[in-house]
Amino acid sequence: MNSTTSTRRAAWTMLPTLLLMAGMSAASAAPIPPPLPRNLQALMYSTMPSTPAHSPEMALDGDQKSYFKSVYDMNDNDIFMVMFSKPIAVKSLRIVTGDADGKNAVTNAMVEISGNGIAFTKAADFDADGAASASLDGAIVKAVRIRLNGNAKLPSLLVREIKINSQAKIKSVVQGPGRGFVDYSEAPDVADWAKRMETQMDSYWAKTAEILHSDNFYTPNMVRVFYRDGDGVAGTDNGEMVVNAKWARAHDDDTGLGVHEMTHVIQATPYEPVWMVEGIADYIRWVKFEPEHFHPRINVERSKYNDSYQTTATFLGWCTNHYDDKLVTQLNDAVRFGKYNDGLFKEYCGKDVNTLWAEFIADYKAAPDKILAKPGA
Ligand SMILES: [Zn+2]
Repeated sequence: MNSTTSTRRAAWTMLPTLLLMAGMSAASAAPIPPPLPRNLQALMYSTMPSTPAHSPEMALDGDQKSYFKSVYDMNDNDIFMVMFSKPIAVKSLRIVTGDADGKNAVTNAMVEISGNGIAFTKAADFDADGAASASLDGAIVKAVRIRLNGNAKLPSLLVREIKINSQAKIKSVVQGPGRGFVDYSEAPDVADWAKRMETQMDSYWAKTAEILHSDNFYTPNMVRVFYRDGDGVAGTDNGEMVVNAKWARAHDDDTGLGVHEMTHVIQATPYEPVWMVEGIADYIRWVKFEPEHFHPRINVERSKYNDSYQTTATFLGWCTNHYDDKLVTQLNDAVRFGKYNDGLFKEYCGKDVNTLWAEFIADYKAAPDKILAKPGA
């Protein structure tokens, strides 16, 4: 979501089907099993938010009564994934979806597996009852994921149980640390840029999730990032971020845009009001993540608090410093649950938004370079 974005959903491009080969000897069908890992962890990843009552770990707890359930709908780009801390040999797997009454069963979707966590191939389709089974014959598996077939949008993803049949024993199941899964295979020359962006994004994921916390709400902890030649800068739609490779080539120092786009994933809000959603994303990037590179420019005659992007970000930073250091957490929470209105500024800061804006402009006129300095600093 970016003012200059035109790339939205682009076709998923499948890498060659290498993964089943990983760990296989050349002519033999039987893979060489990796040594059994001692402390095998299953890291759960979801592009969809959830709640503690139906957390991602509940899909892998051996109990069919507990289940993962996404808070919002599942779209084409959304992913639910288990990633093992080490690749393991898997004999078979079975995934059961839908509640006890068969509601929210996944029927128009597939299970994909990967030997390296990057390239995936289909292992099974879900059947009419919302179950998927695959005989893998000892294939080396690093990750298993659920993905919809095109245009199979679901009101919610409900995964009762993922059963992995393997000699390797899973010792713990946890939510993985938030990160981007990056694919620059369509623009390999931007690899260095993409790796810098990935490092920055991953380093700030947890902090952003903390700032954008809501009670009883788990924010998404993954996004897939693709680099392609296109228009504009970058766009994020559900669990998929597309970065214009041409922009990356031409703007060597703009890797922080990944933090802006990542913020949209963690926000887990409707795209409304747009100015607040974009203002918060720029607040995270510019005010919190790289303030040393941020030099706000406000037009004191014409700018408004709802001008979006950097203007709104600067205003939010100023309000946070002067009135309420939890302001952005509370505003994002309100946007997330469709309760945002301008009156919230008065509720949180004690003054209405127009009064705050007038004070902000007066401060900016007095010392533009200090507009984001803490009072008294
Ligand atoms: Zn944006």
